[in-house]
Amino acid sequence: MEQQIIHACGHEQGHYLTGYHSQQERKAKWLKTTNCRDCFVAEKRAAEAAAAASSSAAVSHLSLPLLTGSDRQISWASTIRTKRLAALTNFNSDSDYQACLQVTDTKWWIDHRDLTDVDLMAAATLAWDIQSAPAIRANADMPRTA
Ligand SMILES: [Zn+2]
Repeated sequence: MEQQIIHACGHEQGHYLTGYHSQQERKAKWLKTTNCRDCFVAEKRAAEAAAAASSSAAVSHLSLPLLTGSDRQISWASTIRTKRLAALTNFNSDSDYQACLQVTDTKWWIDHRDLTDVDLMAAATLAWDIQSAPAIRANADMPRTA
């Protein structure tokens, strides 16, 4: 049966409590100590927005290259890149970190979004090596004039 609970935030919300009476009582008691669903969602959004703002501030000094892909991909990958680079700012003297700065492929950022910081930098270095390889090869193929 639905029970109206007054949450810690002061809002009332209906909850379907199941189980034995004692279990329902325990659940109701616990629910009263928590925020209602709306407040929970609003707090989570605010925390995410604050985290995004602080990530943006952390990378604002970097001149990041434009991402390539569809508008939707760019928007998503841009959020991922900002968040990941902000977390990596401790490594800013590292060449691996520099490789991350160069990756402009939205698909790469989206595909690698769940990697650990170390793995992300390793993957970026690899991507960067592949990306710059043709140029290196072209130079090597050039006839030596010396
Ligand atoms: Zn509330």
